[in-house]
Amino acid sequence: MPATKVIVNIPGEEAYDVRIGGGVLANLGAHLRKLPVFAESDRALVVTDENVAPLYRADAKEALAQAGFRVSDIAVPAGEGSKSVEVAGEIWEAMASLALGRDCVVVALGGGVVGDLAGFVAATYMRGVPVVQVPTTLLSMVDSSVGGKTGVNLAAGKNLVGAFKQPAYVCADTATLATLDEREWACGCAEIAKSAVIDSDDFFFWLVDAAGALAARDEVVVEEAIARSVVFKADVVAADKSESKGVRECLNYGHTLGHAVESLAGYGAFSHGAAVAEGMRFAARMAVSLVDAPLDLVETQDSLLDQLGLPALDWSAEPEAMLEAMKRDKKARRGQVRFVLPRDVGSWQLADVDDATILDHLNAWAR
Ligand code: NAD
Ligand code: MG
Repeated sequence: MPATKVIVNIPGEEAYDVRIGGGVLANLGAHLRKLPVFAESDRALVVTDENVAPLYRADAKEALAQAGFRVSDIAVPAGEGSKSVEVAGEIWEAMASLALGRDCVVVALGGGVVGDLAGFVAATYMRGVPVVQVPTTLLSMVDSSVGGKTGVNLAAGKNLVGAFKQPAYVCADTATLATLDEREWACGCAEIAKSAVIDSDDFFFWLVDAAGALAARDEVVVEEAIARSVVFKADVVAADKSESKGVRECLNYGHTLGHAVESLAGYGAFSHGAAVAEGMRFAARMAVSLVDAPLDLVETQDSLLDQLGLPALDWSAEPEAMLEAMKRDKKARRGQVRFVLPRDVGSWQLADVDDATILDHLNAWAR
């Protein structure tokens, strides 16, 4: 079957493949068998959620069983609430009850919630067993399944406990996207658009041309959009594996205001992607006045986001409340709010912006 392969090569880590295409899930087990790390292993645990289980669990288990794995599975409730220490604990206990040893493989079948949770469980069970990511949302295919960040949430905030754990393999079967609703689709599109702006003219203007086809889920365009996003993310992660060099922060483009929108509107009111798109619109405008970005970046990006089903939000909050919400975000530095600002397509910088300047922009934004 035709599929795209991207190799992720991060210094100090085993290189791994990302397979992207319709139907690649059927070859999951056969592919794992070719990797030295799985030559001897015979136990696999599929971790999924209750929405994905009835859709794709049987296919995943079958693909693994065919390659000689003895497969167990566990389905957690769907949603962010499962990214918890409690649910991680239930999976650890289940693994121990199944007598899974260090030679087992954890297969994360689902969106970013399952990927982050199962990745974290794999990073910690018996001090670490291999994990394979089988992302089934557009967001998890383009963003969370690659790069090795895993973790769970605490009451005090998202992703406060976790580990860096690169997968041994990523299997992105685009056929699974057929059941994804529009809201989740647009969510992935926002991260694709984010990647394109930060990456290059080549990616950005390709996406501008392809936006209609991506929104219509044209198979060829979807596969290419995922592949381009994965190549971008892999390059960023290779340059800054543990987010210590200020490179990986570019992945937060649109997220500073986006997180504030999510928290003030109430989590779930807007999708993460809709909030990030709003944050990109705001950051691009800020970039025009603060770092000399060209005005047509704002206009082209606005129309790209419109086409991808990410319209400007019909919602606003008091500028002071937005500023406070941004300061509560764990990414604020010494009380200053940090933005990723595009100087132009393919060129960005970090800016710690003072309160008065942010308030000016928020006031202009609210009109
Ligand atoms: P999600 O995992 O909650 O999935 C969204 C919804 O879609 C869920 O209800 C899920 O059950 C359902 N679903 C999944 N696949 C489906 C399919 N094929 N058909 C129908 N329904 C399907 O959310 P998400 O947007 O995939 O991921 C969000 C999570 O990812 C957040 O917790 C976020 O923190 C995390 N994340 C992690 C990274 C990272 O680098 N590790 C990066 C970005 C986001
Ligand atoms: Mg995001």
